[in-house]
Amino acid sequence: MHAPAGSCGRLEVITGPMFSGKSEELMRRVRRARIAGVEALVISHSLDTRAELSAVTSHIGVTVPAVPVGDVASLAEAARAEDVDLVAIDEAQFFGPDLVPAVEKLLSRGIDVIVEGLCVTFDGDPFEPLPTFMALAEDVTKLTAVCTVCGRDAVFHERIAAAPAGSATDIDASHIGGLDSYVARCREHFGHGTATEP
Ligand code: ADP
Ligand code: MG
Repeated sequence: MHAPAGSCGRLEVITGPMFSGKSEELMRRVRRARIAGVEALVISHSLDTRAELSAVTSHIGVTVPAVPVGDVASLAEAARAEDVDLVAIDEAQFFGPDLVPAVEKLLSRGIDVIVEGLCVTFDGDPFEPLPTFMALAEDVTKLTAVCTVCGRDAVFHERIAAAPAGSATDIDASHIGGLDSYVARCREHFGHGTATEP
């Protein structure tokens, strides 16, 4: 729905660990908004090489077309270039803390924003900027995955592939991967590495 003239946009956050269904939920909301006549721009980060660049893709292969951008400036440019009501951002953690003022600018222009991304690193630490967005949002949906050891709610994910150099918060390709590189873990089984795989 169009924001009334002069009013600010609304911020929604979708977050959780890997495999929690964040991208699926983002795509569901975008499809729903478009049925209501909302002009939605879907943004993906060009660092995400898991699927074709011009789409957001879930782990089960559902996709929605997206504009791939490499940094916050290009994201702002893409949003300026089109007359949109809603900007939906996949894998927002790749954009780093500079994404916060850029999103605030969109909101101040009356554009609704959905920020979707990881709130936790594969080391189990808070992963900015999602925790900041969670504090600032009108609505936060925090999803859990399924622990692949015991089936309980997983709020963490951890690497099972060899870790590259660098920390868990480096904005680089070390955060890209799927079932071959990462597993979802509950609190009890997080940090046990591959030894606890069934
Ligand atoms: P995210 O964007 O949060 O990484 P996706 O939306 O891409 O998640 O994918 C979620 C889908 O991944 C689920 O619907 C399910 O089919 C699949 N999946 C694979 N492994 C798991 C797991 N351990 N827990 C939950 N879902 C999983
Ligand atoms: Mg995803």
